[in-house]
Amino acid sequence: MAGHGLIEQMHQQQLAIEMIELGARTSVIMQSVAISYGRLARIHREKTGTHLPKGALPFAADWFLQWRPNMHASLFYNIHRQFELRTSAAPAERLLKSYRLYLQWQEDAWENALLSLTRAWTMLRFLDGDLLQTTRCTRCEILFIDHANAPRCGYVCGLCQPPARAGSGREAGSAQSRWRPTVQGLATDGMGANEDRQEAATSVEHARRSNRFVQGTQRLNRLC
Ligand SMILES: [Zn+2]
Repeated sequence: MAGHGLIEQMHQQQLAIEMIELGARTSVIMQSVAISYGRLARIHREKTGTHLPKGALPFAADWFLQWRPNMHASLFYNIHRQFELRTSAAPAERLLKSYRLYLQWQEDAWENALLSLTRAWTMLRFLDGDLLQTTRCTRCEILFIDHANAPRCGYVCGLCQPPARAGSGREAGSAQSRWRPTVQGLATDGMGANEDRQEAATSVEHARRSNRFVQGTQRLNRLC
């Protein structure tokens, strides 16, 4: 950490502590925060009583493309994108702020935490490295995580067109309706430029159409 002033060192240390508390892997912290391995190891031992875990990051790009993980990954991406567009926060701060907002959404929606902080970080790296890309859904116009080099025209997301394995549609619909509070929050949280409001309105419409989809499916089920 040579070259960093004392205040900056303390700031970096605080970021590392937050990352440890959120369960980030060692290599994620080391690549996000200006901190020595020795200092990180000491902080980790103090916070958790354990040694720094070792090992490679286990995640493959395909994980982010499964239906439910894709919803979580895409939600996190859209939150992170708002911070990227609207603030000058450093990458590690953006990551943490976005991730905390994503966790808040999970609590509000009683949703299981599918996306760990390490996975969120890995996804951003995969996007930077062109292992993944984002594609805008032609129906709801929200950006979703997609295969690298997948054709961008005519894309329909997994919420507008849930795959058969997503079940009766009820699960798809309820997952979709959970977008509402987060995206509305993004639009009114001091980050609300017109573009954000537009995106929020689109998401609300998305959820509304999803409810119609669920109702339609339920009617069909009663007929069978
Ligand atoms: Zn869509």
